[in-house]
Amino acid sequence: KLSKRLETVAKFVPTGAIVADIGSDHAYLPCYLIHKGIASYVVAGEVVKGPFESAVGQVQKEGLSEKVKVRLANGLAAVEKEDHVDTVTIAGMGGPLIVSILEKHPEKLQGITRLILQPNIHAKVIREWALAHNWAILDEEILEEDDKIYEILVLQRSHMELTELEILVGPKLMQRKSATFIKKWTREKENWQRVLQSIEGADQTPEIDEKRAELETLIHLVEGV
Ligand code: SAM
Repeated sequence: KLSKRLETVAKFVPTGAIVADIGSDHAYLPCYLIHKGIASYVVAGEVVKGPFESAVGQVQKEGLSEKVKVRLANGLAAVEKEDHVDTVTIAGMGGPLIVSILEKHPEKLQGITRLILQPNIHAKVIREWALAHNWAILDEEILEEDDKIYEILVLQRSHMELTELEILVGPKLMQRKSATFIKKWTREKENWQRVLQSIEGADQTPEIDEKRAELETLIHLVEGV
């Protein structure tokens, strides 16, 4: 059974989409998308040999070799023009790694109309990247599974404007204020307060002062949620 996290990613894939799933590992998401009749064709990209081989094995086992193409490639290099991919999913990595994958081969994003990104941490850098590259947030989701909180961002090509707070916590998530959202930002705030307290008695150095100011700004910012 697919994790709730990947099931939520799948929920945002338009019916009939041609998908590239980058960093696919076992190719669970691509196989699910075909089985459920959501995607018509999926490219599963993996840069590491072990996961690449397990993806190939899974696709064969499920008899989906016609509909899921597994490729050993770095990031979006897995996408070829002839695939006509319109939707890219990247899940289960940190925000900065997801951004570096998006930035490495910008030409590969040309025909793409939707990005579904699931950063494990630092979703903020994805919102910053989206703002700078004319992608707008169509939807967002926050969910908890196995004691971890995950965010999912759905982007389409459009212009958006976000406040500092929205960049940090997500504009749609902030509107909805789900229990999981409140839990995440309460936790984060408590962590920052703890760190702030721990450096309270520390010597006055420019680095410590900077850290203190940074934490105070963040704490003040999330007070607005
Ligand atoms: N997407 C799956 C999920 O969400 O369950 C797997 C997540 S797994 C933690 C991250 C995978 O991304 C690993 O298998 C890793 O090898 C792969 N990966 C990391 N950087 C990559 C890159 N630049 N290109 C392709 N795959 C990459």
